[in-house]
Amino acid sequence: MRGEKKLEKKCEFCGREFIPKRYWQRFCSSKCRWRYWERNHPRISIEEYEELNKLRKKINESR
Ligand SMILES: [Zn+2]
Repeated sequence: MRGEKKLEKKCEFCGREFIPKRYWQRFCSSKCRWRYWERNHPRISIEEYEELNKLRKKINESR
């Protein structure tokens, strides 16, 4: 196997190897992404975070 590119990446949460669909993908699944996020932001849930993002968008649009 010469000159073959290794496309697999290691999931930053569970460490499993996966082939990312996007170059910036860091996790094997959205579950791992959420888990990782929750671990780093324990005070706020992903739903609350998305709600905040929506509010932020509204504020930006009304300007
Ligand atoms: Zn994973």
